[in-house]
Amino acid sequence: IVARIAAGEVVERPASVVKELVENALDAGASEIAIEATGGGISLIRVADDGSGIPASEVALAFERYATSKISSDADLESISSLGFRGEALPSIAAVAQVEMVTRAADEAAGTFISLMDGAVTGRRSQARPTGTTVTVRSLFRRVPARLKFLKSAATESSHIASVVSQYALAFPGVRFSLSLEGRTTLRTPGSGQLIDVVSEVYGLEVARNMLPVGEGEGEWSGGNSQIRVTGLAGAPSLSRASRGYLSFFVNRRWINSRLLAWAVEEAYHGLLMAGKHPVAIINIVLPPGEVDVNIHPTKAEVKFQDEHRVFGAVQKAVRQALIARAPAPRIEEIATTYRPTPTRERELWTLPGESAHTQSPPMTVVQPLVSTLPVLRVLGQLANSYIIAEGPDGLYLIDQHAAHERILFDKISSQQSARQPEVQGLLEPATFEVSPPQAATWQSHLADLAMVGFNIEPFGDRTYLVRAVPAVIAGDWAGVLREMLDAPGEGSWEEGLAKSMACHGAVRAGQSLSIEEMRDLVRQMEQTATPQTCPHGRPTLIRLTAAQLRREFGRS
Ligand code: ADP
Ligand code: MG
Repeated sequence: IVARIAAGEVVERPASVVKELVENALDAGASEIAIEATGGGISLIRVADDGSGIPASEVALAFERYATSKISSDADLESISSLGFRGEALPSIAAVAQVEMVTRAADEAAGTFISLMDGAVTGRRSQARPTGTTVTVRSLFRRVPARLKFLKSAATESSHIASVVSQYALAFPGVRFSLSLEGRTTLRTPGSGQLIDVVSEVYGLEVARNMLPVGEGEGEWSGGNSQIRVTGLAGAPSLSRASRGYLSFFVNRRWINSRLLAWAVEEAYHGLLMAGKHPVAIINIVLPPGEVDVNIHPTKAEVKFQDEHRVFGAVQKAVRQALIARAPAPRIEEIATTYRPTPTRERELWTLPGESAHTQSPPMTVVQPLVSTLPVLRVLGQLANSYIIAEGPDGLYLIDQHAAHERILFDKISSQQSARQPEVQGLLEPATFEVSPPQAATWQSHLADLAMVGFNIEPFGDRTYLVRAVPAVIAGDWAGVLREMLDAPGEGSWEEGLAKSMACHGAVRAGQSLSIEEMRDLVRQMEQTATPQTCPHGRPTLIRLTAAQLRREFGRS
């Protein structure tokens, strides 16, 4: 029972088994690691490596609790350079699954096969195998129904496995990884030693093409100095993603989760990404092993830095430099601040195939309506999932769905702010929200402003807060708004900035397909706003082609 309780800390789900076995293979110096899983890893997980193997005399010992070959004195604990060191993985896995291992050490003639069930050895014999180790884990959690019950679908568990393997592949570009899920090869890296090669396998060519090098040289600690080295790849600002799932951090090659480092990277992109967008980055941090404590949790997924501020600063600076050095003209910012109609593009959209000669004629001028309210419009359809095409009494209207919705929401939020009557949505379960040390002060001084728009927030520990209710318009992305207001409140009053941010996050996105009814609804609401032609940031919400312009363009007059 003790073993099974302890196992629960290390083996949370199938992906944890994969993580531990892959770490062992890496610690054994493998240059090739093949991972296989079926049934989401519940039925079978197999990890085969060409590493050092285990001598026959130590095979059974490896499955004993706290048996490790990686540290031998308490001084070693102060400077851990291997991924494993707690001697808990193999016994934990054996406590909750059926395990077989075949292994052969380089200097031994034959290999060893060992099988275990419920933590006890059930079979052992010698078996041929090239140098290296294969561990097969079957029927995970069959004897731990409580854990089994909490697992998600096989597909979800498989995706966790894929993400673990992807991260280790990114951390070790010199190792050839292959992952097969449900019999299909999902990932294969060349082991070329080039991070960019792994990125193109994991995230695709499009992402790989847009990565900028961070720092210089190898992410290997060369000993001696107490320098922090930051290397890796960071996406050009044009390559943003909607979640933080594309941020990977490795400390001395250990994959870790770190909100601190995520902040550092996002700080470096400050002003370069649109609100609610997150960068893609793979960051290797190398520092003397004594300056980082990896022994704070059984899964070793989090670490503690001796000097957090220095690490934060080093990462932020390295990424920022990469962005400034190689991406001098942030396109996003340009689009966000200056509006230029692009007549040729517009033309192309309206030109039939094979009519390219038309682009020779003078560019079509786009006139913005001078009227302050909109006439009644008839929705015709949607263009590029981003623009609503509508007909009015005096021509054709192209409406930017995001900008228009932003305007509608901004007006609504502003009037709720002044009436002190926010539309509130309670959260089914209160959520926690954490602020960084630099954010804490801003945050404190604006809690009242947040309450005014419908946030119900209580302190919940040091820099953690409990959010019980949020403004209804941003129920889906309230955290994005809070983060934006903490990190980039913009110019002008905080209150107005908040309304703008809420409008932006609550509005339909460009690229989202809308039904005719949704578009009609949006246009109707737009007809009722006082200043329909610009969004709260001052960009146009619509462009109009007058009947006269159309006549001219078609050579009818
Ligand atoms: P830890 O990795 O913390 O030492 P584990 O329980 O994961 O503990 O493994 C126990 C020991 O078994 C390791 O210290 C190592 O000596 C040996 N071992 C496990 N997997 C492998 C492998 N794939 N190749 C070589 N040795 C291994
Ligand atoms: Mg281990």
